[in-house]
Amino acid sequence: MRRLLAPLALSLTTALGVVAVQGQAKPVPVAPTGPPRLIVAISVDQFSGDLYAQYRPTYRYGLARLGQGAVFPAGFQSHAATETCPGHSTLLTGTRPARNGIIANTWFEPDGPRKTKPIYCAEDERDPASSPRNPVVSAFHLKVPTLGEYMKAANPASRNVAVSAKDRAVMMMGGHQIDAGYWWKGAGFVTLNGRQLSPAAVRVNANVTTLLGKGAKPFVLPANCTAANRPIPVGKGFAGNGAFALPPNKPDLFRTSPRMDAATVDLATALVDEMNLGKGAAPDVLSVSLSATDYIGHATGTEGSEMCIQMAQLDWQIGRLLDHLDKKGIDYMVVLSSDHGGLDMPERLDQQAYPRAARVDTSLSPEVLSKAAGVKSGVVLLDGPLVVADGGDYYVNRAVPADQRKRVVDALLTIVRANPQVAAAYSSEELAKTPLPAGSPQDWTIKERARASFDPARSGDVVILLERGITPIPEPMPGAYIATHGSVWDYDRRVPMLFWRRGMRSFEQPHPVETVDIAPTLVAILGLRVPDGAFDGRCLDLDGGEGNTCGS
Ligand SMILES: [Zn+2]
Repeated sequence: MRRLLAPLALSLTTALGVVAVQGQAKPVPVAPTGPPRLIVAISVDQFSGDLYAQYRPTYRYGLARLGQGAVFPAGFQSHAATETCPGHSTLLTGTRPARNGIIANTWFEPDGPRKTKPIYCAEDERDPASSPRNPVVSAFHLKVPTLGEYMKAANPASRNVAVSAKDRAVMMMGGHQIDAGYWWKGAGFVTLNGRQLSPAAVRVNANVTTLLGKGAKPFVLPANCTAANRPIPVGKGFAGNGAFALPPNKPDLFRTSPRMDAATVDLATALVDEMNLGKGAAPDVLSVSLSATDYIGHATGTEGSEMCIQMAQLDWQIGRLLDHLDKKGIDYMVVLSSDHGGLDMPERLDQQAYPRAARVDTSLSPEVLSKAAGVKSGVVLLDGPLVVADGGDYYVNRAVPADQRKRVVDALLTIVRANPQVAAAYSSEELAKTPLPAGSPQDWTIKERARASFDPARSGDVVILLERGITPIPEPMPGAYIATHGSVWDYDRRVPMLFWRRGMRSFEQPHPVETVDIAPTLVAILGLRVPDGAFDGRCLDLDGGEGNTCGS
């Protein structure tokens, strides 16, 4: 038998020998030691834990690689106001909105100079040229430092770089001391007031301009998207079977497509080259917030062909970013998470076994509630609205005498607490008296979730929280705005948290953690000193074995 097998074994050895030689030609990846030279903080806007779970088996490239690191599928944006600005504010500060001040994308400060006009989270309204629609972009409202600022405090040679389609993502991840910060405006990337676009940004913008001029074909539908590819009537149109055809000169359609993420990754990699990130005298941080998933979720919902195509493209774009860093030979560590989750549009939820989903009733519009609170309280205001609101925060006009304001608050609470679409409503007094929550974020009460979003100077006199499955978009606009997030429910709070570094031990920890744990985790890995009590989160031990990346 042995003799008979010998020639066969020999030929196999020869064949395998070729493979082995090819294998030896590749450098064997060595697990790096010491702090990484570059932190790559990726935020995928509106990347819910649900989307990650649904598409995880389909990932083949960047997201597949990150799924081989330390995987926390239940990361929590633990606060109630699950919007983009608060969500990004938690990612690299280690603090919740109750401490960092970013309670919403937009709020009111009725005692301040803007009175009944809104304030945008990433503007500096001290500049008279600034307005929420055309803000002087700034991290003025962020009350705490970011990871990049802690790194720069430890060694001024550290560079803090942030790119996104959204200015607020750049400012909340980058913070007050940004070496390079770029976001999308109109039909190209722009930067901070008084700064020039770098040659890398000029080059990326030129490529985008060429693409916008030519337009582009729709994306090819991946095989796994066939079932989702179905038009669903919504508002005055349909959603669910789009593939992102791009007619010439349509920058808004470009933005609401996977091409926005591709351009953001183009800019991130160009900045890596231009600034030699990860090769300097101290570790650098590159924050990349990819906004297309959010724009697509809002425009088309989360369960159609559009999101299915986006999930494949997102995987590809993240892979492209990581491959670029590999080619440069940079020792980098990645954290990927999200600013909030999301909910599909009620029209498709209704078809797909969730008939309790609905659009918010017009009786809960700020205008209707303002009038109703006036009637019920007997408080009359001749000049200006009695109540102004953004999201769940409702503010009584300060033209109302202080002794009458409580009557308006009580009337508003009575009205909305009787509404079946309202899960809970609290006065600012009630929230101020509530202790800051602790323990597992999935078990927090609604009031505790609201407390984590509460800032006495910025939150509403009344905070209104909608029932599960209620979408606060009364009139859907297909292609722009049909589905959203922002609720206290876990479909909006739960996001993946993935950490990856070459050679690290892979493990999965399904128990809930918080996005405010990211900064303390990275601070420990970088060996930075921060003041005691600087974080709301805790360090996560990413060793996965007997070692401990949090120190003793
Ligand atoms: Zn967002």
